[in-house]
Amino acid sequence: MRSIDITDKIRALSVYPYDDYKVVLKPKMHLYYAYRITDTGIEIELSDYLENAPLSVLNDECAAIVKWSMGNRYVQPPSLTEYLRTSDFIVKSRPTYLKRCRSLTMTQQGRCKNLIDSVERLMESGLVFDEDIRNSYYTWADHMAKYKFGQCNQTFRVVSVNPILDDDRVPDEVVDYVIYHETLHLRQDMSKTRRPHNAQFRTWEHMFPDHEGMENYLKNIYSVLE
Ligand SMILES: [Zn+2]
Repeated sequence: MRSIDITDKIRALSVYPYDDYKVVLKPKMHLYYAYRITDTGIEIELSDYLENAPLSVLNDECAAIVKWSMGNRYVQPPSLTEYLRTSDFIVKSRPTYLKRCRSLTMTQQGRCKNLIDSVERLMESGLVFDEDIRNSYYTWADHMAKYKFGQCNQTFRVVSVNPILDDDRVPDEVVDYVIYHETLHLRQDMSKTRRPHNAQFRTWEHMFPDHEGMENYLKNIYSVLE
């Protein structure tokens, strides 16, 4: 995929005070934004995941990046935050994200365990709610760092799980616990916190029965499975 030039869609007012500007959408795995000051003005790079975003959102985002280029902190425009939460954005751009990830198996059914069974048990026990898993996607990873057991991408609402847990010797509760932890990241409102494992998160996490036992199991998993 190549870059898409959207300069003609951006109002000059959004990039004021630069007279000369260029705005391109680039294909990268994560949502990202960047700018470069050129001899004559500014070049703004946005993620191609925003290809179908309303023009008002793209203009707001360019204005935010211009402010950033003037030495202010980057602040994501509320219109963009809102757009990124729409199912239209999540469901349409996720297949591209999944393709770019490369480390995912894109299946919930592992050799031994099905991730959706975990989600269902968590819902039955009242730990996870419909709203938490709205527009979400769960998949086994085909590899992950040794002591990382799950991962959550909040933008595309993708939860992936370390394949080490796809083993009959691993109790179902342990997989449920990892899924629970990652699902709590789906529940979090990241526009309001920059610290994912904050006090609110820990309170939710500690609602899992014997969560300390689960943590201990994970800490020692490689000696259990040897
Ligand atoms: Zn976490």
